[in-house]
Amino acid sequence: YFVEPEQMSEDEVEITGEDVKHIDKVMRLQPGSHIECLNNQGRRTHCKIRSVNKESIEADIMQDLENSPELPVYAAVAQALIKGDNLDLVVQKGTELGVGSFLLFAAGRSVVKWDSSKVEKKVQRLRKIAKEAAEQSGRLYIPDVSYYPSTGDMLEAASMYNTSLYLDEETAKNGKHETLAEIFSSRPPSILAVIGPEGGISPEEAQTFDKSGFRPVSLGPRILRSESASLYFLSALSYHYEI
Ligand code: SAM
Repeated sequence: YFVEPEQMSEDEVEITGEDVKHIDKVMRLQPGSHIECLNNQGRRTHCKIRSVNKESIEADIMQDLENSPELPVYAAVAQALIKGDNLDLVVQKGTELGVGSFLLFAAGRSVVKWDSSKVEKKVQRLRKIAKEAAEQSGRLYIPDVSYYPSTGDMLEAASMYNTSLYLDEETAKNGKHETLAEIFSSRPPSILAVIGPEGGISPEEAQTFDKSGFRPVSLGPRILRSESASLYFLSALSYHYEI
């Protein structure tokens, strides 16, 4: 279970919020039961529950667990808005595959538009999916999920990455692209990949990406759905580094 950093001291953890109900009512754990707690700042601990009550659960830290399941590169996916549950799929599977951050953005050709009054609620819901997927897959960190109302806004946030790519099937046709293997073999410390919406990346956006130093990458000759392209990129990344 992930807790807020201030809820984990040197030798004990206090769990509050929705996880209390999950531990108490769903998992039916009692004092003496063992759980794993993480503070989302790199500390993973094996804990023993000391007390269970409606508002909070107290646990003693038995030991720090060292194994780090994280990728040796900070990976981000700049995912154009796509239809509802496909976005859930990208966040859930992307979390399992080791993503550090999801930068969701309304691309020029995104069919899906988020009403500004609904953004906070949608982002919170996707953050919950990321937290649950991080717990299920044994991650050390919960990926960050943020939203940008335009490609331009996303570009600003993307500038902090060492290597920025945009996945575009058009580049496969005119052959002017590097392969993922070439890019990964340079072992960048951080890497971001932009994935377009159902309607694709527009020529204007591709031009902006080129001007901003983003490198076009092809995922082969077939046209993948947006969510397939995201997961292909992340699978290739973890395959390159971990298998
Ligand atoms: N332009 C496509 C078409 O004409 O059907 C639609 C775009 S595709 C459904 C969605 C996104 O997935 C693209 O913008 C791109 O980012 C990525 N993508 C799909 N196939 C790809 C490929 N072969 N190489 C690189 N990126 C790809």
